[in-house]
Amino acid sequence: MFTYDAPEQLLEGRTILVTGAGDGIGKASAIAYAKAGATVILAGRTEEKLEAVYDEIEALGCKQPAIVPIDFDKASEPDYIELANLLDETFGKLDGILHNAGILGLRTSIENYDPIIWEQVMRVNVNAPFILTQTLMPLLRQSEDASVIFVTSGVATKGRAYWGAYCVSKFATLGLMETLADELENDPSIRINAINPGGTATAMRAYAYPAEDPSTIATPDDIQPAYLFLMGPDSKGVNGQNIDAQGVMSAADFS
Ligand code: NAP
Repeated sequence: MFTYDAPEQLLEGRTILVTGAGDGIGKASAIAYAKAGATVILAGRTEEKLEAVYDEIEALGCKQPAIVPIDFDKASEPDYIELANLLDETFGKLDGILHNAGILGLRTSIENYDPIIWEQVMRVNVNAPFILTQTLMPLLRQSEDASVIFVTSGVATKGRAYWGAYCVSKFATLGLMETLADELENDPSIRINAINPGGTATAMRAYAYPAEDPSTIATPDDIQPAYLFLMGPDSKGVNGQNIDAQGVMSAADFS
């Protein structure tokens, strides 16, 4: 596991948007960020799930979060502009985005891949993080120390049979992260990185590996050190990296 001992209140005073915050890894990250002192904006498509995470964060006595319902499969540019305006009016700045929301699509050959599902996977996994980052850039620029985290996968660097649009979307996510990081490399106030979570017990993982016993792999809570490190001030200066949340590296390797 990536090693990082996050100081208490690491994210005090920071406002952080987490997409896909209602379930799986996004839910664990939203709660970890709230526990570390952040005001967390919970974005996702299923309001009841977001409300349950909201209640959990409130019950922990953390800062009151906010809920932003958005379906990345259906959203178009005006929806993103409306979201940015809302966040601007409410918070005036944004210190971080975790682009966690994602879908698996089909597990089948390219030859048989349904083009409609292909486009859906690209909209949610690639187009949404692109347009969300672009629309929120003015708010990120209001922060003295902003961090944007994209989420890749083990299939982001080497193609794998029958992983179709998901595999291609994660290559694209890595490309988007590296391109943006390169463009901002001389801007010390915004850093752009990615995390490869590694096999983690969630609904998506169970769908991809139905025969796997989930108790044999990492939980969403186990992998949070990498998510905390990249979101907080200890990763200042780290830019353009794709970190394995279950890898052998530690925060000290970046100091
Ligand atoms: P998950 O349990 O399926 O959660 C995915 C989250 O994304 C859910 O909150 C879901 O909302 C949200 N989402 C899906 N489609 C959406 C849409 N159209 N609009 C808004 N939100 C949407 O998956 P996970 O395993 O936590 O995955 C989180 C990220 O890690 C993904 O980017 C995934 O590719 C990546 N990843 C996971 C693993 C793993 O082993 N779990 C490995 C490598 C990479 P609903 O709850 O409303 O459906």
